[in-house]
Amino acid sequence: MKKNIIIMGPPGAGKGTAAKKLIDLGYVHISTGDMFREAIKKGTALGQLAEQYIKRGDLVPDELTIGIVKERLSQEDCAKGFLLDGFPRTLVQARALEQLTKEINRQIDVVINLDCGEKELVRRITGRRICKQCGAPYHIDSLKPKVEGVCDLCGGPLYQRNDDNEEAFKVRLEHYTKETKPLLDFYQERGLLRNFNSLGSSEVLFDEIAKFLKS
Ligand code: AMP
Repeated sequence: MKKNIIIMGPPGAGKGTAAKKLIDLGYVHISTGDMFREAIKKGTALGQLAEQYIKRGDLVPDELTIGIVKERLSQEDCAKGFLLDGFPRTLVQARALEQLTKEINRQIDVVINLDCGEKELVRRITGRRICKQCGAPYHIDSLKPKVEGVCDLCGGPLYQRNDDNEEAFKVRLEHYTKETKPLLDFYQERGLLRNFNSLGSSEVLFDEIAKFLKS
């Protein structure tokens, strides 16, 4: 079983959805986006700093982001295997992660890259709704809840992220293309990269990834 994993892909490729399903395989899910959103909700100093970047679609500065990942990855529960979702997003972050994982002897075993066309990304992002309580993802056309605005799983209210609009999406995609996409070469060179097409259903994708991780 592959233990320590990074899941990568452009905004809307399905990283969070796949990651939430993979938790059932025993991985600790570490999403820097979720950590920032939690800090914003709580009104912490980190949240106040991060919010201004996130709502524009910009990247939160490397020092801040690397700091929260260092702290989280060093915690005891990550010893059973972790799944990094949304980190690293820059070369500086990737290098810092490589050094940290060596230091704590929790090296990355594989980098899963999710790929789907740009047109589909816009559709997914602008129609995405998320449960405020449990984080379950929905879509206004392709993944409707049974009752409008209410989560099927926990009954929590659904909301739209304030960076899930076309304007912020454009900025996020630009950051992805310029800063994050080059990391695919970084991991390819290290023999860690594995590509998956995420255009189809999330169930089929999850089965493919799960089979690969268990192999
Ligand atoms: P996500 O939930 O992964 O789409 O992240 C939402 C937003 O949080 C991103 O658009 C960034 O503004 C910020 N963010 C999340 N992860 C990182 C990261 N590794 N580096 C910089 N900013 C990040």
